[in-house]
Amino acid sequence: EPQLRSRIHSAVARDPLPHQRADRSPQGWKIDPYGGTPRYEAVQKLVATRDPASGALLGIDALLESLKESTLRGMGGARFPTHIKWAAVRSQQSDTKYVVCNGDESEPGTFKDRELLRRAPHLLVEGMVLAGLTAGATKGYIYIRHEYHEEIEAVEEAIRDARSRGACGDDIFGSGLSFPVEVFVSPGGYICGEESALLEAMEDRRAEPRNKPPFPTVKGLFNQPTIINNVETLMWTPAIYLNGGAWYRDQGVNGGQGLWFCSISGDVRDPGVYEVPFGITVRDLVYRRAGGMAGGQRLKAIAPSGPSGGFLPTLIPRNALPKTFVEKYLPEGGAFFDILDLPLDPDVLRGMEGMLGAAFVAVGEQADLVALALNLTEFFRNESCGKCVPCRIGSQKLVEMLRALKAGQLDREHLDLASSLGQTMILTSICGLGQVAPNPLLSLVKYFPDDVDAYLDRRGGPPVREFSAFET
Ligand code: NAD
Ligand code: SF4
Repeated sequence: EPQLRSRIHSAVARDPLPHQRADRSPQGWKIDPYGGTPRYEAVQKLVATRDPASGALLGIDALLESLKESTLRGMGGARFPTHIKWAAVRSQQSDTKYVVCNGDESEPGTFKDRELLRRAPHLLVEGMVLAGLTAGATKGYIYIRHEYHEEIEAVEEAIRDARSRGACGDDIFGSGLSFPVEVFVSPGGYICGEESALLEAMEDRRAEPRNKPPFPTVKGLFNQPTIINNVETLMWTPAIYLNGGAWYRDQGVNGGQGLWFCSISGDVRDPGVYEVPFGITVRDLVYRRAGGMAGGQRLKAIAPSGPSGGFLPTLIPRNALPKTFVEKYLPEGGAFFDILDLPLDPDVLRGMEGMLGAAFVAVGEQADLVALALNLTEFFRNESCGKCVPCRIGSQKLVEMLRALKAGQLDREHLDLASSLGQTMILTSICGLGQVAPNPLLSLVKYFPDDVDAYLDRRGGPPVREFSAFET
């Protein structure tokens, strides 16, 4: 097997980390069936189904069935069904297979994996082992963002602890089955979290996304079948296997299914990480969980999948909503939909800005959305790996145009050009970065014309510069 070279991180002595304290999993977190004290009962349950004659784990079908029933989908943001991914790798005929946990959390406004890694790392190790045994994988890697020093320590300690209890490594709980798990520290950079760029980085190459398909389930790490799951996705699997798929699924509200960890930030009183049901309304999330708007401001906009999904206004015009949404939520007419009534569920949000990722940002009335959109577009421009032209050149052009808008030097014709450039980037960029980079600008133009006009109206003349395709 090729040698992996994980970067060295510096461990600094400090106060006990959250996972070392008695209160590590906050009271009542449903994701942790053990209340913070690792017991690895899900792994024990699975290995107990081993048939001594054939050596097969007879419980795998039941485990996959519980994942299917639960409706668990990828919690990094993309929401691909977990059971399909696990079954796909299981069905591959290969002597070498891998499980990789993507803990390179870098989406602006997303910090829930960090909280989970530091408070309940034992669940991640257990989820890795469940995935590994299900797929017949040979090794597991937990790939963690390089700035997450404390979380890296917490996970390494949890791996040692699990090994000492017989829950991972060699001869798991005396079954004769093995599944070693180790940490791989990300080299650093937003694109290093894109799953195929992540694989490139692990193979010690420049972290640039690969074309898909083939998906990692077929050709992943070192071209071998690989399960790649987000931290939270793996961490839900022990509780789902122990309690049953319906237990997880039925905790959703307002038509949503299951639970999720939401990072809430922006202009709220109590930003943080909350375990909430899918289908929770924006009103409940902002005003009950996050303590309402800071300084008594009114809510101006939300970014339901973090800013990279784009912003929605507090009142969405009826004609801007998908038809199925209107039929369900505005059946009796009405020119606008009140965003506070919006159930946060991936199925409800399909076709709208923001497909519901891992972050939720509340924007108060005093915010300058043009400045915010510029800031985010600069972020994507800076993080673009440069592999494909639409993203490399397009993100730079968008930054230039937003800067010109902010300086009062853009006219409507050029704004239209910026929107069309954004659409081209969505259609032609290789990976998610280039496909989401235009969203802040596009949502601004679509839903916040007054904010845009305030800058357009100050231009006082024709544009002072042209935007040549060859400038950058
Ligand atoms: P994607 O929709 O292309 O794929 C989602 C997952 O499903 C991938 O693991 C992919 O390999 C798998 N998949 C898709 N089709 C498959 C098939 N037919 N067979 C087997 N596997 C299949 O999305 P993506 O490009 O991997 O990720 C984009 C998402 O990542 C966005 O939703 C974005 O919000 C999120 N994101 C999250 C963070 C974060 O920090 N949490 C950072 C950046 C992006
Ligand atoms: Fe790189 Fe951007 Fe192309 Fe993705 S879309 S491969 S980040 S240049």
